[in-house]
Amino acid sequence: MNSLEIKNLAVEVAGKAILEDFSLTIPKGEVHALMGPNGTGKSTLAKALAGHEDYEIASGEVLLDGQNIVGMEPDEIARAGLFLAFQYPSEITGVSIANFIRAALQSRQEEGEEFVATAYYKDLYAKMDALKMDRSFTSRSVNEGFSGGEKKRCEILQMMMLEPAYAIMDETDSGLDIDALKIVAEGVEQQRGPDRGFLVITHYQRLLNYIVPDKVHVMWEGKIVQSGGKELAMELEEKGYDWVKETYASAS
Ligand code: ADP
Ligand code: MG
Repeated sequence: MNSLEIKNLAVEVAGKAILEDFSLTIPKGEVHALMGPNGTGKSTLAKALAGHEDYEIASGEVLLDGQNIVGMEPDEIARAGLFLAFQYPSEITGVSIANFIRAALQSRQEEGEEFVATAYYKDLYAKMDALKMDRSFTSRSVNEGFSGGEKKRCEILQMMMLEPAYAIMDETDSGLDIDALKIVAEGVEQQRGPDRGFLVITHYQRLLNYIVPDKVHVMWEGKIVQSGGKELAMELEEKGYDWVKETYASAS
């Protein structure tokens, strides 16, 4: 029950099968890393889970604390407690970060619950300070003209404000210099706890020096081909993805 359970998922994009028979369970309180070569379906998994309309779930189940979220709209999935930090975050012209996050939080409120703006801004500013984001960001349109690193920090800020039950971070480390990487990793580490599960998608082992995962999964051609502890990431770094390809190409 207390887990994000992906069962035998098949996902099609533009009529092409990308994920087949993909299964993974992330218990609340754990951080799982998903690694794999480019084009293997990592982002497809993330977007399908978040309910992206272009990613069709052909079969399988996704149980969020027991509730099947397959077929639900993206906003319903978000309200059910799943957050996705995109690999390529979109720009939202005319909507400031402060108003964007505020709207997301307000949409989660129970009827009759009051939104206290002063408390909201206090929390927002504290979290921006932790991410070393300038206050001027609050009034800027979401991701418009942001550098790669600024976009990633903005994704982490959203995650920290929304405090989801489960968070998927899709290559949040890509395009970050080492200082930004550490800040982002600290953000995740702060949010880590018994009430939250993480799926950290990354191409490189580097991020996992700062976010030490409970489990590591290696994905290739739409499937998990190997799972292990944090040492699996090191092994992968050493041997490279060619090793995965050679090992599993001959097995299939
Ligand atoms: P990864 O994140 O592991 O690099 P992706 O999930 O982005 O891999 O891509 C997996 C495969 O799905 C690739 O062959 C890619 O071209 C294809 N794909 C992903 N998104 C789309 C899309 N919107 N339209 C067409 N093909 C797509
Ligand atoms: Mg990707």
